[in-house]
Amino acid sequence: MKRRRPLAVLVGGVFCLAVMSLYRMLEVMQGAELQQGRETPAGQVDVDLSRLQQKIDKLEHLLSDNNRLVATLRDSLLHRKASWETAGGGGNASSDSAHSRAETPPGCRLAKEMKDGTDGVQLLDVYNLLPFDNPDGGAWKQGFEIRYQGDEWDEQPLEVFLVPHSHNDPGWLKTFDRYYQDQTRHILNNMLIKLNEDSRRKMIWAEISYFSKWWNDIDEQKRAMVRRLLKAGQLELVTGGWVMADEANSHYFALLDQLIEGHQWIQRHLGVKPSSGWAVDPFGHSPSMTYLLKGAGLQDMVIQRVHYAVKKHFAQQQTLEFLWRQSWDSSPRSDITCHMMPFYSYDVPHTCGPHPAVCCQFDFHRLPGGRVFCPWRIPPQPITEQNVQERALLLLDQYRQKSRLFRSPVLLVPLGDDFRFTEAREWDAQFTNYQKLFDYFDQHPELHVKARFGTLSDYFKALHGHLSEAGATLPTLRGDFFTYADRDDHYWSGFYTSRPFYKRLDRTLEATLRASEILFSLTLAEMRRFHGDGRLAADFPAREHFRRLTDGRRSLALFQHHDAVTGTARDPVVVDYGTRLFHSILNLHRVLQSSAHWLLLLDKSEYHHDQSKPLLQMDDVMSAQDALPQKTPLTLSDEPRSLIVFNPTEQLRTSVVSVVVDAPDARVVEAETGRPMAAQISAVWAEPSRASAEAFQLHFVAELPPLSLVVYHVTKASPGSAYRAQYTFHRRGNAPTVQAEHFQVSRSEGQADAPLSLSNKHVQIWSSLESGLLQKLRLQSGLVREVQVQFLWYGTRTRANRDRSGAYLFLPGEEGAQLYSSSEPPLVRVSRGPVFSDITSCFRHFTHRVRLFHLDGHAGKSLEISNMVDIRSEVNRELAMRLVSSVASGNRFHTDLNSFQMQQRQTLAKLPLQANFYPMSSASFLQDSTSRLSLLSAQSQAVASLRPGELEVVLDRRLQQDDNRGLGQGVTDNKLTASLYHLLLEDRRGGAQEVGGASVEHLSLLAHLTSLSLCHPPITMVAPSDSQLPKLRPFLPLRSSLPCDIHLLNLRTLEDAQEAEAPSQEVALLLHRKGFDCSSAPELPLQCTWSAHEEVDLDDLFSPLRFRSVRRSGLTLLREDDEPESAQQQQPPRITRLRPMEISAFRAEID
Ligand SMILES: [Zn+2]
Repeated sequence: MKRRRPLAVLVGGVFCLAVMSLYRMLEVMQGAELQQGRETPAGQVDVDLSRLQQKIDKLEHLLSDNNRLVATLRDSLLHRKASWETAGGGGNASSDSAHSRAETPPGCRLAKEMKDGTDGVQLLDVYNLLPFDNPDGGAWKQGFEIRYQGDEWDEQPLEVFLVPHSHNDPGWLKTFDRYYQDQTRHILNNMLIKLNEDSRRKMIWAEISYFSKWWNDIDEQKRAMVRRLLKAGQLELVTGGWVMADEANSHYFALLDQLIEGHQWIQRHLGVKPSSGWAVDPFGHSPSMTYLLKGAGLQDMVIQRVHYAVKKHFAQQQTLEFLWRQSWDSSPRSDITCHMMPFYSYDVPHTCGPHPAVCCQFDFHRLPGGRVFCPWRIPPQPITEQNVQERALLLLDQYRQKSRLFRSPVLLVPLGDDFRFTEAREWDAQFTNYQKLFDYFDQHPELHVKARFGTLSDYFKALHGHLSEAGATLPTLRGDFFTYADRDDHYWSGFYTSRPFYKRLDRTLEATLRASEILFSLTLAEMRRFHGDGRLAADFPAREHFRRLTDGRRSLALFQHHDAVTGTARDPVVVDYGTRLFHSILNLHRVLQSSAHWLLLLDKSEYHHDQSKPLLQMDDVMSAQDALPQKTPLTLSDEPRSLIVFNPTEQLRTSVVSVVVDAPDARVVEAETGRPMAAQISAVWAEPSRASAEAFQLHFVAELPPLSLVVYHVTKASPGSAYRAQYTFHRRGNAPTVQAEHFQVSRSEGQADAPLSLSNKHVQIWSSLESGLLQKLRLQSGLVREVQVQFLWYGTRTRANRDRSGAYLFLPGEEGAQLYSSSEPPLVRVSRGPVFSDITSCFRHFTHRVRLFHLDGHAGKSLEISNMVDIRSEVNRELAMRLVSSVASGNRFHTDLNSFQMQQRQTLAKLPLQANFYPMSSASFLQDSTSRLSLLSAQSQAVASLRPGELEVVLDRRLQQDDNRGLGQGVTDNKLTASLYHLLLEDRRGGAQEVGGASVEHLSLLAHLTSLSLCHPPITMVAPSDSQLPKLRPFLPLRSSLPCDIHLLNLRTLEDAQEAEAPSQEVALLLHRKGFDCSSAPELPLQCTWSAHEEVDLDDLFSPLRFRSVRRSGLTLLREDDEPESAQQQQPPRITRLRPMEISAFRAEID
């Protein structure tokens, strides 16, 4: 009973925290004054009133959040009390640690809790240890000479599994469809025939994009054969993703979505479940992928492209097989058994053993007379009675050498290569010759070897059998395998940025898909509820939309392929991918338009679907796959135009919504209440110093409840009534001619040498008057850091016979980075207004803008940085943006892995410059003991911190040559490319927590929220200016924001079990509970709350939405992974556990 007291203290503490945060919020609001304009325009009174109204609304939300926090606490207390009582009085005090850390929310768990056994490996330690000297290892060039006595297998024979595979890229040198027509369908057709001929033959297959396409082409008889081969274990589907995904540039939303798409397809058509992962070609490996695989129910996995020096070290330590653990996980829950292939490649010369010249002789596809041959000039021989002994012993020697690198006598030997096994002849050559060798081994027991064809599962089953027999466990490993080098100083850090236009388009589709999934699921649920009998609105094209969603999922999934989002495909293939992304975005817009249409109608009977004339139009329109989105100008009049804004995030947010209008005076009101919104009119710049006389930007502050659709009315206002931005222009030497008749413009301000400065109530910045580039930041707290923005060029190597940068490789010139300079000084344009102020620097190759929002809440705490880059005039150059700060970060910095987690990096002088670049999908930061500087990004790029306090990102690269990795071309299809960031400086207390030499760090809650807003901007739709417009009302599905550490990753309608390509009533509810930084957590006046418990009540979180059934499932929602629905869970409150850092998947029906 001694637990009661801490419980009471906990409740009291959290209640006090809630009250204090409320009080603090009030205080901040009262003290909050926007930077006011010098004059008070007529609209200002309205604006002030509206601001007051907004504050009151915000307080209401805050109150509701705090009420909910207290309610949740009470619920979970009751729940806990019940569970102790049933457990017999709670005698085991150490079994539940939640109470001992009552003040620490679970998401900011301290790293000291995480300990590995003595056998734990931390990749960062390995990097510190290795000399990276690349000595010649002999036959195994990057390794060492492997010795054995010959009697090692006398007790336990060598057990070899030869695993036939065919690596099919869904697009690379040819498009996905071309490869399918020319190669893949023949491979799969022949597989059916050849596996059928002999039950000992096996094959694995990874890419479900191809497999499902082929499935559509084959008849029922062949489908039955496929099912039989799967059942017999002759054919195994490995990983089961739509593609073999890139693990550097991909976002975890897309990584998981392509895995769900593949697994759902497999379940529906084949009824099997993948158990082993196979990733032999992605250019480096991420633990985020392993987390998803484990969550999807996989137990084992194989990886291949790891730095050659790391492979050698692991081979020497016999740690090529390990339990891969998440850096942040204190339990073995996320562990997955991983096999790292030891040699250079996944082709046959590098898989049978250390000697490629020998192994190549056992690739019977290269028998003399064929199209491929062995570059080592010793061809394979067909196995005959005469040579079988000599051949078998030669091969056995390689097997035995390879086996010495592993702890068990079980050996994995992949047999395959890119697009292998196309022709029947190749199947026969490999299978018959190997069978003769295997038979020879069988006939000679004194060799102590058993070899056979196998699948990955066959191999891992034997491995686990041996391990458990020997009572052995594998070492654990934490960390990731970036940056990959396959030989010499050839680091694959170029592809982190290659084709940045498409890396950005990838995120646009991702955000559009997530928004469409959520809105579509909510629409169907609302319709069923509205009609009462589970029916949908008669006219609503639910099936068509579901097909569009499926198409969007599959386009995004295909683009996660390791030659797609990486930017390493041929030009026409890139256009093919781009076209798919572009069409999917257009298709998803239709889903958004008609879902919003139905949801917003006051009178649902007025709903009418007209494909050719949707009621709502998107505000942002893309005209082609290689064009940036453009805004459609709105014609204003006295009659209100309706704007519909969808907030795709689970948080109440204050956002600035921008539209282009045809008048310099406009007024925006919230349609429901009629209250005016703070707004500002800015120029549309046709040229850097020439404003359009016909088009104007209207920016207004929107208060958007979570997942809501809010309607605004825009009207033309009387001249001079709207607040217009004021501009100042600077250019050294020659003052620009400015044309901007509707705006107040001055040539310069203040003293000639004084820096430019902007501020809001949170932060003040200073920028250079000459370049407009940022120099310094100061927070309201007094924290000051220099942050100088610079631009740089990298060139490539010039000496003859040296490889140069290409799509994959970054091989910068010996001179390193050169500061960007231009013959002409830049034009600097400063804009000031009540909603935001910004400084724009117009250089020849890029336009750079830093914007400060004058907003309450988190949007005002960071700087928005945007770049518009055009390097099409350049030859062999890469443009980078560098921040040079006074943050004392030493050689350490952090980058995210797939936006799922943060990974510590160390810049090492022993490595070449290009090795110190890492992938950044959405975040990186530098920190010292009192501050942290985070760069949050809306697209993937290469990032480095080459000197203390510095952080740089590569924006675009234009390279004229191939870099000898098979692509056969340079990267010269550059486009006008946009990139977007938020820069956040924060106070920090307390140092990092070390785990085995690496600190485990998370973003702060503020950084999480900023990143969420950046990656999921509000979506604006426009209604016609028709007086016959039906009455619309806002759609507000949630009473309040989700806790700020809980992210609604997706709400994905599942396919109907009976009716193909139709939506079911079930949704996949995917929640990700973020880990966050402890050193800044408790004192932030955020608008959302966070709970001190891992238990949450789902009904309460999503109130007033109700879930009819909620079953926790695996991450890919396979039915066999569903937890049984317990009786207790039938009735609300529906308490479930959301662990920090973890993604939880539920199969649910919305009532
Ligand atoms: Zn590949």
